[in-house]
Amino acid sequence: MEMYIDPHIHLVSRTTDDYEAMRKAGIVATIEPAFWLGQPRTEVGSFKDYFSTLVGWERFRASQFGIVHYCTMGLNSKEANNVPLAEQVMELLPLYAGKEGVVAIGEIGYDDQTEAEDRFYRLQLELAKDVNLPVLIHTPHRDKKKGTTRSMDVAEEHGMDPGWVVVDHNNEETVKEVLDRGFWAAFTIYPHTKMGSERMVEIVKQYGPERIIVNSAADWGISDPIAVPKTAALMRKMGIPEEHVRLTTYQNALTVFGLSGQMHEDDWLKAPPIDQTKKLGGNSILRGGQVPRVEGPADRVEN
Ligand SMILES: [Zn+2]
Repeated sequence: MEMYIDPHIHLVSRTTDDYEAMRKAGIVATIEPAFWLGQPRTEVGSFKDYFSTLVGWERFRASQFGIVHYCTMGLNSKEANNVPLAEQVMELLPLYAGKEGVVAIGEIGYDDQTEAEDRFYRLQLELAKDVNLPVLIHTPHRDKKKGTTRSMDVAEEHGMDPGWVVVDHNNEETVKEVLDRGFWAAFTIYPHTKMGSERMVEIVKQYGPERIIVNSAADWGISDPIAVPKTAALMRKMGIPEEHVRLTTYQNALTVFGLSGQMHEDDWLKAPPIDQTKKLGGNSILRGGQVPRVEGPADRVEN
């Protein structure tokens, strides 16, 4: 069975059917970047509880379906524009950046490329250096080329090693510069758009597999939580070498986010068996009368 990592997916928005489909398709590990929720938050406590969910309940929920869950911590660029709130979020971040399973500071960067976004992006680059974590950059959907270049300029200005920085949501216009400058180039596969699996295959054909990463960025919008395995299947069909498929849909994400010291292949290769009788804080994923899935001996030692 092939193994895949989806290094950008917002699982709090997804269903248990998605988790089951992802595991069945070979996804063994996921990274959930801290992002906005569609509805703008008005209180710092909402951020605190969201960050706690990423390292707590969602991590547990994923484990119940045989998927190892990691996350990134950060203040997203959209909400950086609420300056008084953003300042309070910055005070929370160092605490959460040090939690188990946090593999980067992100997703941070620019949305509308405002002054406030620039300020909090720079502060979070400094935080990443302080806590020795890689950075995940969200590039803007409007004015993408300029925003991508600026994101890298500023990262360099702050002394970030490009080998520790993943620039996300690339396209054909941005990929060359990102790779030439030594950054990692991630691509989000959006269903029913031009940046679909077909275009991804062409990019890997043209640029090879080095420092290229495929993700779904699936969230509460129209998106596909199994975009990574689907793209891998298309790559194979189109004659991309197996090693290139492995690098772009598995190994590259592990290599760069593994720099955190928080993500190891053994986390899934030696994962404890699924046990849906488990609870977290008294809460279970099971609803009245459902039969829990339990792999292996039920009486094994808990750790
Ligand atoms: Zn995202």
